[in-house]
Parts: sequence; C-alpha cells; structure tokens
Amino acid sequence: MTLLAQLSLAVVLLAFLFPPLQQDSPPQASMQHLLQRLSQCDFLSSGAGLSFAVSTLVRLDTLFAVVGGGHMPIPGANNINGSGVLIACKRLNQLRISPDLGTVHVGPGNRWVDVYRYLAPYNRSAVGGRVGHVGVPGYLLGGGVSFFGNEYGWASANVASFTVSSPAVLANGSIVTATPTNEYSDLFWALRGGGNSFALVTDFGLRTVPSGKVYVGTTTFDASVSGTQFLDKVYEYGLRAADDPKAAVIPLVEFSSGSTTPSYSAYLFYNGENAAPEPLEPFLSLPQTSRTFSYRTMYDWSLETDTELLLLTGFRQRFWVLPVGLNRTALQIIHDTYIDSVRQFSSSGIYLTALAVMPVPRTFFTASQKAPGGGDPKASTPHKSPTSGSKKASATRGH
Ligand SMILES: Cc1cc2nc3c(=O)[nH]c(=O)nc-3n(C[C@H](O)[C@H](O)[C@H](O)COP(=O)(O)OP(=O)(O)OC[C@H]3O[C@@H](n4cnc5c(N)ncnc54)[C@H](O)[C@@H]3O)c2cc1C
Repeated sequence: MTLLAQLSLAVVLLAFLFPPLQQDSPPQASMQHLLQRLSQCDFLSSGAGLSFAVSTLVRLDTLFAVVGGGHMPIPGANNINGSGVLIACKRLNQLRISPDLGTVHVGPGNRWVDVYRYLAPYNRSAVGGRVGHVGVPGYLLGGGVSFFGNEYGWASANVASFTVSSPAVLANGSIVTATPTNEYSDLFWALRGGGNSFALVTDFGLRTVPSGKVYVGTTTFDASVSGTQFLDKVYEYGLRAADDPKAAVIPLVEFSSGSTTPSYSAYLFYNGENAAPEPLEPFLSLPQTSRTFSYRTMYDWSLETDTELLLLTGFRQRFWVLPVGLNRTALQIIHDTYIDSVRQFSSSGIYLTALAVMPVPRTFFTASQKAPGGGDPKASTPHKSPTSGSKKASATRGH
C-alpha cells in the first residue's frame, strides 16, 4: 500500500466480461426450489441473529462465507461454492440518521442507491459508491473510492463506528461496536481496508456529507476525438486535480466485441452548483455526442447508472489495477498496450472491456490521513505524489 500512496494515477483495467459457464448453472426448477427454501430462513434480520449464526458455525467448525450487496462479480469473491454456509446480509438493511443529521447508521444489506435515496430528503449524502448498485459492506471494508474522495479521502476514512460480530475477536459471537477511541480501536483501524478478515459487520456508522445535490453525469466524446487528444485531457486534468478536490472524473476507453475502434467517454463529478467547473474544463471542451452531466442528488444519478449495470447481470468480470505516476508517456503506453491486447482476442465471443484512467490527487491521501483513529491504515505518503500541487506537477511534464 505504500507504493499506492506514492502514485497519482490509478489505472484500472475495469472489466472483462464473459458469459457464465453453462455447467455452473443448476437447472431452473431446482434453482427456484432452492430460492423458495432460502427465502424462509429469516434468522438474519438482526445483528443478534447474525451473531448467533456465526458463533454456531464456529462451534460446529463449519466453513462459511458472507455476501453483502453481492456486487463483486468475480467467481469465488463472495461465496462458498457449495462447501459450507453462505451468510447473506440482505435483511440487515436498517437505515437511521442521527438527530443532528451528522451520522447515518447503515446495515450491510444495503446498496449505495438505498443510502442515497434515504439521505436525499435530509439534503445529505455520503462518501460512497460512484454507482448506486455497489453494495455497502464490501465497498467500505475494501477502502472505497468515491466521487467525494478527493475531498474526503477513502470512504472508509469517513466511518465513525463499525458494529461487528467477530469470531476473531470474541469467540462467543457477541456483538461489539468499534470506534477510533474505545477498547476496540485496533479493530476499528483494521476494518478500514481489511476486508472480511476480522469481523462480520452488522452496522456502519457513517459521517454524512452536507451535499443534497451535486453536478454528476457522463459524457461521450465524438468519434473525431483521438486517443492522443483524450489522453492529453486526462493529463491536463491530472496536473490540476489537487487544486480543486471537489472535482472527480473517471475517464474511460472502451473496446467491445464487434467494435473496430475504441470509444472515449468520462464520468464527471463536481461537489457544487457549477455547470462548468474549471478543473473539468479539459473534458467539457472536447466535442461530445451526448452528456448527462447535471445538478441532482446522488440518488437520481444512481437511477441512471443502475439501469445500465443491470444489463451486465450474469456476466463474469475481471479487474486489474496498475498504479502509476502522472506521466504523459506512460499514459500512451498503457493506452496502446490495452488496445493491442484487446485486438488480439477480438474473435473470442461476447465481451466488454474498459480502461479507466483515474487521476488520484494528493488531496485524496491528505484527507484520508486526517481520519480519526490513527490516520490511514493504507500507509499513504502523499508528499511523494507527483500531483502534490500544480506547480510541482507542471515540472514533471514530459518526463
Ligand atoms: C461496476 C462496478 C463498479 C464499482 N465501482 C466502485 C467504486 O466506484 N469504488 C470502489 O471503491 N469500488 C467499486 N467497485 C468495487 C466494489 O467496491 C466491490 O465490488 C465491493 O466488494 C462491493 O461490495 P458488496 O457489498 O456488493 O460486496 P460483496 O460482493 O457482497 O462482497 C465482497 C466482499 O466483502 C465481504 N463482505 C460482504 N459483506 C460483509 C459483512 N457484512 N462483513 C464482512 N465482510 C463482508 C465478502 O465476504 C466479500 O469478501 C465496483 C465494482 C463494480 C463491478
């Protein structure tokens, strides 16, 4: 993780999608029977129920796994493959805001769309998923990269408390709440990125963000926009990104089965009422064929993206992450290598691929370090980031 902290660009080869293997799928009738039976198991609608389940499984020495939003579509990422019990958090879907509106308690059965919908009438939001379909627990326990991240850091840096059932900490399965200052502060620290290794979380206490509405949306660039032009804009944004942390982008290169050339687009975000914020100018100035960038709640935005994501249901996915410093030559090499690689397997059936070139400015890491409870467990060292300020970043141009 120290390496990650030194870098200013997280390049994500987002998703290779393949149809599921037919032999993995049980016949429809038996699947329906199974679902019917499972729907009758309602003992996990409370933290106490989950705690009872965990302590019983530990006592019986039975393998188990836990699934939250079930959003991680990599085979084996959130199931037990028939060799034990799968605990589903679906019914642990409580949502409760504090009287001062500063904290919202969120059960692990929620997705971010549920959280954004609940907070909208209070004129609040949360440092959460960039798309609403993502589940809350897996996202927060993995760190969580949010549109609000350049301003507020990792999503997990904005957790005030974790309520957990932890066989690793308490073999009797009792439930405890870990905060930055109580006797479970070490567990609190470990959960901000530690995945499911330490505990099963039954409730997240999240600090809310006072942003009822934000500017957010997608933009698709005209076919006349070349890879070189697009990467120039990504680089330009990267140089300025630390100057205004209210902005965030996900620049995308997509190349799918049936295409002969890549297409370029971007998710754009600004935490403020400004339709043309200066940091986003590089992207807003490129010729576009469509744009949904508009002032609205994160809930409304989630409805737009979730419809598209549902089309991906049933596909297998793979992610690869490559952190690199902000360097125009490196961007070109990554882009060209990606296109060459996709062209090589272009005859292999139905697939969708995307290269997300995300600038991560120094402010992301400095905000994360300010989190209560021992700073950033990912040990980031923002002073080594090439985008630690536009002055310094300009000096790296062309290297
Ligand atoms: C299209 C897409 C967009 C994405 N966008 C983003 C993004 O913007 N930012 C970002 O940071 N990530 C993003 N992700 C990754 C996402 O954060 C992970 O997939 C995350 O795991 C989803 O959370 P989930 O609850 O749905 O996880 P699940 O698939 O349910 O589980 C993932 C892991 O969390 C564990 N887990 C689940 N519930 C609990 C619990 N209650 N206690 C302990 N462990 C538990 C599981 O055992 C498993 O190991 C994206 C993924 C996809 C496919």
